[in-house]
Amino acid sequence: MNGNEAWGDRLRGLVNPVTLMLCSLVVLVGLIPFAAALVLYQLHSRTVLTEARDSAHRTATLLMRSFEQSIERIDAVLQDFAEAYDGTASPVQVYEVLRSLRLPAAVLQVSVTDTSGVLIASSLSPGLERMDLSDREHVRVQIGKDRANAELYISRPVLGRLSQTWGIQLSRPLADAEGRFAGVVVASYAISDFIDFYKQLRTEDDMLIALVGRDGIVRARAARTTSFGDDVSADPAFLAAWKHDGVYDQASPFDHIARIGYSVASRKYPILVLVAHSRAVVEQQSNEFRVAIWSTALGLSVALLIVVLLGGRYLNLQKQLKANEVQALARQREANVLEAISRVPGVAVMHVTAAGASEVGTTSNAALSPMLRRYLASGRFRVLVRGLREPQLRDEHLSDGTSELEVEMVVAPLQGIERASPPGEGDDMVVFAVDRTQRRMEENKLYQMSKLASLGEVATGLAHEINQPLGVIRLAASNALAGMKKGLPADHLAAKLDRIIQQTVRMSRIIDHMRIFGRKSEEELQPSHPTDAVDGALQVVGAHFRLDEIEVTTQYEPDLPAVLCRQDQLEQVIINLLQNARDAINERRAAVGEHFPGRIVVRVAGEARLGVAEQLVIEVSDNGGGIPEEMVDRIFQPFFTTKPPGKGTGLGLSVSFGIVRDHGGSLSVRNGSEGAIFSIRLPSRLGAPLRASAVEG
Ligand code: ADP
Repeated sequence: MNGNEAWGDRLRGLVNPVTLMLCSLVVLVGLIPFAAALVLYQLHSRTVLTEARDSAHRTATLLMRSFEQSIERIDAVLQDFAEAYDGTASPVQVYEVLRSLRLPAAVLQVSVTDTSGVLIASSLSPGLERMDLSDREHVRVQIGKDRANAELYISRPVLGRLSQTWGIQLSRPLADAEGRFAGVVVASYAISDFIDFYKQLRTEDDMLIALVGRDGIVRARAARTTSFGDDVSADPAFLAAWKHDGVYDQASPFDHIARIGYSVASRKYPILVLVAHSRAVVEQQSNEFRVAIWSTALGLSVALLIVVLLGGRYLNLQKQLKANEVQALARQREANVLEAISRVPGVAVMHVTAAGASEVGTTSNAALSPMLRRYLASGRFRVLVRGLREPQLRDEHLSDGTSELEVEMVVAPLQGIERASPPGEGDDMVVFAVDRTQRRMEENKLYQMSKLASLGEVATGLAHEINQPLGVIRLAASNALAGMKKGLPADHLAAKLDRIIQQTVRMSRIIDHMRIFGRKSEEELQPSHPTDAVDGALQVVGAHFRLDEIEVTTQYEPDLPAVLCRQDQLEQVIINLLQNARDAINERRAAVGEHFPGRIVVRVAGEARLGVAEQLVIEVSDNGGGIPEEMVDRIFQPFFTTKPPGKGTGLGLSVSFGIVRDHGGSLSVRNGSEGAIFSIRLPSRLGAPLRASAVEG
C-alpha cells in the first residue's frame, strides 16, 4: 500500500458517520456557551451605552434646571430693580440701591447705564468716572428697547471692565416714569461658578459638561481641561445637537475624544447643557464584562466538553459491559456445546492453553484422557500446532507403556471471544479426540483379508515372473551342458553359469517381496526411499502388466527426501492402485477395442505447502477413462466395487486409505484428462535425501 492510499484509508477512517457525528456534537457543545456569550455581550454593550446616555440625560436636565433657576433668580432681582427705577436718581443713589440688592454670590456686580450706554453706577463703584459701555453687546442690544416687551439677554463670556473677571452678562432695558427707554441694567455672572460646579460633577476625567448658547458660543466647558468662549456654531456636532433630540454621539472638535451623552436645551433661554461620557470609559465596562463572560463561556465549554466526554466514556463502558455480558453468554454457550460433545461416548474434549490442557466434561474412556493430556502438554504437539490457523485433523498413536491407543483428533485454534486477534495468534485451542483403536484393529483385519485376496491375484503374476527366469536357467544349463560335451572353453561355461546366477538373484528378490507382502505388519516406521516401494510393487506385478500390454512408466524427481514408512505396506498400496488402473484400462479396452494402448504413469515428487511440513507425493495415473463423478465419494468405502463378483472385493482402496493414513499421510483421487489420478501424500523427513535418482523412463 502506498502513502496516498494509507492517507486515504486514514481519512476514510476519520470521516466515518459516527466520528463525524461525535465531532459535530463536540463542536456544537463547545460553541453553545460562546454563542450565548456573544449575544449576552451584545446586549450588555447596548445596555451600558443606553445607561450612559440616560445618566447623561438626567444630569443635563438637572443642570439645565439649576441654570434656569439661577438665571430666573437674578432676572427677578433685575426686573424688581427696573420696576422701581425712574431715571431720576443720582449715581450715588443708584449705587446705594445696587449695593443693597440681594444677589447670589456668583454675581460679580450689577451696573446701570444711561440711554447712551454710559455707566451711571455699579454695585462696585458709584460710576463717577462715567465709563462708556455702549460698545458692549449686552448693552448695545438693549438700547432703545421697550422694557415691557424686552427679554433678558444672556451674553457670551466677556471680561468685565469693572470686575476684571470673566463672566456672562445678563441685561434688561430700563424705563422712566412715562415708560420711555431710560437705560440698561446688567448683572455679571462669574463663569468660574459654572466651571467649578461642572468640574465637581464630573465622574471621570474625560467626562464633558458644557453650557453652550444657541449662537454657538461656549459659555462654560469642563472636561480634562476647562474653557469658555469657543465658537462651535460651525461644528456639525453642535448643529446636530439642536436637531436630534439631544442625543450626542461623536468626537469632540477640541480634544477629539469620542463621547456619548445628551444635550438638553432650555425652553426659556437660548442655552443648552451638554453632558457626555467618554465612549472608551463606557466601553471599558463592557470590556470587563466581556472578559468575564468569555472566561465564563470558556469555563462552561470546557465543563460541557468534559461532561460530553464523560458521557461518551460512560456509554462506552456500558457498551463494553454489554459486550462482556454477551461474551460471557457466548463463553457459557461454548462451554455447554463442548460439554455436550464431551458426553458423546468415546469422545474427549480438551481445552488447551499456554498453561496446559484441561478436560471439558468427562469422557467415558478412562485411558484416553490422561494419555491425551500428556500428549497435548508435550513439546512435540506444541511444535506441530504452532501458527495453526485452521482446524487440523490428526491421527496419533498414543502409548503409556502398558496400553496403546489410536486416536483421531481435530485440533481447532480458538479465537478469543473478547480478543480481536485472529485464531492462531494465541495458544488457546480445543481438541476433540476420538478413540479409533477398535476401528483400526478391524481395519487391520480387513487389510489382512484383502492381502489374502490380492495374493491369489498376485500368484498368477508371480508364476509368470518365476517361470521366465526358470526358462532362462534351463536354457543356460542346457547350453552349458552342450558346451561341456563339445569341449568348449571354460569361458563359455562361466558365461552360462553367470546367467544362471543372475536369474536366481532375480527370483529370490521376487520371493522376498512375496514374503513381505504376506506378513502381518507390526514393525515401526523406517526411513526409506519412496521409489523403493514403487520399484518393489512393479517387481511383483510388472510381468503381469507386460502380458496385458500395458506400458508402465515411472517418473522420479531427483534428490527426493526420505519418508518414514513400512515399505511392505506402501508397496501393498501401490500394487492396489496399479491393479485398479490395469482393471480400468482393460475395461476400456473391452469397450473400445483390443488395440487400445494401455498406459500407467507412476510419478514420485516432492511437494512444499505453506504452513505444512514438506511432503512427498506418489501419483498413479492411468488412461482407463476415470471414475464416474457420482462414485468418486464412495470408492474408499469398504466393499464398494463396480467389478463383477469374484473379481473385485471392494477392499483395496479402503485398506489402502487406512494404510496411508496410518503413515500420517493421505490418499486422494481426481479425474485427469484420460483417467483416474490417485495421489499418496506422505510427510517427508526434511533435509534427508537418501540418494539422487535421475528421471527414469
Ligand atoms: P475393487 O478393486 O475390488 O473393486 P477397490 O476398493 O480397489 O475395490 O476399488 C473400488 C472401486 O473404485 C472399483 O470397483 C472401481 O470402480 C473404482 N476404481 C478404482 N480405481 C480406479 C481407476 N484407476 N479407474 C477407474 N475406477 C477405479
